[in-house]
Amino acid sequence: MINHIVLNGHLIAERIKTALRQELARLSSPPTLGILYFQSPASEVYKAAQLQQAASLGIRTVEEPVPVSAPQAQVEGIIQRWNDEPTIHGIFVHQPMPPQIDPQRVSAAIDPRKDIEGIHPQNSARRFFAKARIGSCTALAVMELIESTGVDLAGKEAVVVGHSEIVGRPVSMLLLDKLATTTICHLGTDKAGRLEEHVRRAEILVVAVGRPQLIKGAWIKPGAIVIDVGINLVKGRVVGDVEFEAAKKRAAFISPVPGGVGPVTVMMVMKNTIEAYKLQRDSR
Ligand code: NAP
Repeated sequence: MINHIVLNGHLIAERIKTALRQELARLSSPPTLGILYFQSPASEVYKAAQLQQAASLGIRTVEEPVPVSAPQAQVEGIIQRWNDEPTIHGIFVHQPMPPQIDPQRVSAAIDPRKDIEGIHPQNSARRFFAKARIGSCTALAVMELIESTGVDLAGKEAVVVGHSEIVGRPVSMLLLDKLATTTICHLGTDKAGRLEEHVRRAEILVVAVGRPQLIKGAWIKPGAIVIDVGINLVKGRVVGDVEFEAAKKRAAFISPVPGGVGPVTVMMVMKNTIEAYKLQRDSR
């Protein structure tokens, strides 16, 4: 019999928060997180969630809002200032970035020891060799949700839909680290009309695209773990990329949107800030 459990991201985030409080109590002073964001309603919502969790844990924050028209040099200038400032331990630059900004140059500008999203080339390389101490907050959140099910991933068929640098690719690497047999799908898969066939055999399905209803409920393999990363605004409601109600009837575990990956991702930002603090302390 299949259980059909809806994974509660808020509860999982609270569990992680309890462990983080204990870690913070062992530090000689609280870490500080620098948040650089392009002023938009979506960024304001995400930033507010980050500030709230940081404040409740006693992590200090510094904010630097920039207009969506900000040039590359302005963004890199702020990063350089924070790199040189020993009282700033973590740097988080909100994504997506506006079109005039080259995100790879931004990633490379961040001191790798302060890189909360694990996007600096050095951190990407460490992830490739399964040696990263700091990784993509969203990818780590996806893994927390999957691990909360208690299912052993070794040898399972995992399918990741979406191959962005910030979500799809890092999730795929983390699933590989757990010895899941991992397939990565993307626009090419969909255009070739082959998305359904891959999704249908997924025992672990992670979807990170940003297209509402892309994944039909009927495609879900009975008993699968389904993690929906997508955030879409449809008629004033936030929804994911998966047809939730239909998928829920077939999945053993499914994450909702909102209330699934999102709250855990914010907690991973806090976890990585603590990790960055320790990295800098240990390399002094
Ligand atoms: P992204 O950079 O736009 O990447 C989207 C990915 O989806 C790309 O790899 C793209 O492939 C692929 N794709 C596009 N159309 C597709 C289709 N029809 N079939 C299969 N794949 C397709 O977005 P992202 O940053 O990874 O974010 C993905 C979603 O997750 C967004 O809705 C975002 O808001 C959400 N998100 C949520 C959180 C959270 O904490 N909950 C965090 C980050 C992101 P190509 O490159 O080949 O076109």
